[in-house]
Amino acid sequence: MASVNRHYLELQGSYLFSETARRVAACRAARPERRIVSLGIGDVTRPLVPVVIAALHRAVEEMGQETTFRGYGPEQGYAFLREAIVRQDYQARGLDIAPDEVFISDGAKSDLGNFQELFAPESVVAVMDPVYPVYVDSNVMAGRAGQFRDGRWQRILYLPCTRDNAFLPDRPATRPDMVYLCSPNNPTGAALPRDVLRQWVDYARREGCVILFDSAYEAFVTEPELPRSIYELEGAREVAVEFRSFSKTAGFTGLRCAYTVLPRDVTLADGRGGRVALRDLWLRRQSSRYNGCPYIVQRAAEAVYSPQGRIETAADVAACQANARRIAQGLRRLGLGVFGGVNAPYLWVQTPQGLSSWEFFDLLLDRAGLVCTPGAGFGLSGEGYVRFTAFGKPADTEEALRRLALIL
Ligand SMILES: *Cc1c(COP(=O)(O)O)cnc(C)c1O
Repeated sequence: MASVNRHYLELQGSYLFSETARRVAACRAARPERRIVSLGIGDVTRPLVPVVIAALHRAVEEMGQETTFRGYGPEQGYAFLREAIVRQDYQARGLDIAPDEVFISDGAKSDLGNFQELFAPESVVAVMDPVYPVYVDSNVMAGRAGQFRDGRWQRILYLPCTRDNAFLPDRPATRPDMVYLCSPNNPTGAALPRDVLRQWVDYARREGCVILFDSAYEAFVTEPELPRSIYELEGAREVAVEFRSFSKTAGFTGLRCAYTVLPRDVTLADGRGGRVALRDLWLRRQSSRYNGCPYIVQRAAEAVYSPQGRIETAADVAACQANARRIAQGLRRLGLGVFGGVNAPYLWVQTPQGLSSWEFFDLLLDRAGLVCTPGAGFGLSGEGYVRFTAFGKPADTEEALRRLALIL
């Protein structure tokens, strides 16, 4: 009898989003006349910008002509896109990244989930808490997490991000092999300042760990002194892998395109006294298990880097940032403790009167028909907070604030 990978059975149910959906459905059934306003979604709502749509149409036409049709593309992604990325996201900022260190994919979630395969099974993982669930779950599937007890995996090192440390992770007491850092952070909205990130890069070099740096929200950074890429820190080329995505920066959540940067200098011990470059292992992995992001989608991503693409996508990001400011201002006026929202599309809001995340979620849902995301669902340190997103429509933001003012 074939047996299952038992680690899949150890996974905790995706409690957060199924439970919020269940409660929203129950509320809707009880009061069908009331429109529910959601500031809970972690998805973009604005359509793709015109220059991206035009690039898609052109690429679709090419695919229908014998002379311009494309079949399998390069596993690492087309050079036109890798070169545009390197030129504009790295070299233009003085960062030394080469096109053959960039890997195009169908999403940062897949890359972040798959990447742990390159590490030894016994490797120790550190994650920020609260955190985007993908890092933990992919390591649970790989059998790296140990037992689940009292809300935590015993072999995972949690880096609490709380009000006391300004939601910035401190180094753990024991040494991890892999450290997932997400900045700007989902869900707290906190971005790592340069000195904090420098401490992490120095620590990784000293201790021999690899930093898996998720900067999916890089485009939302507004404070000019904050690093937008980990490679702005000296020595990061030796210890850091950077994951980025067009999902939030250009509205590609449904189109699917992302990239991972793997400098040749990031190496792992080969167990025989030598070192092996992660970049070469990832190329081998992708060539074996992946056939690339669609040509038309890569042309669409390339259009984001055109002068007009820059303008159009920046306008969408700015609209989201303005929405975030509006929500933050409105919530503060109501006396709530609000964090984030300045360098990220997320606001991390303290529940009033010591309510738990779920109690405050229920209160907002029942009394205001308003949906947020309970912070406890992102990890134990998220208890006592809820997350609001700024991806929604400005009209919904205003409606949400109006309703909140009536109940708080
Ligand atoms: C949305 C998001 C991503 C992007 O995932 P895609 O698969 O590229 O859509 C990555 N990391 C975090 C923390 C996110 O919230």
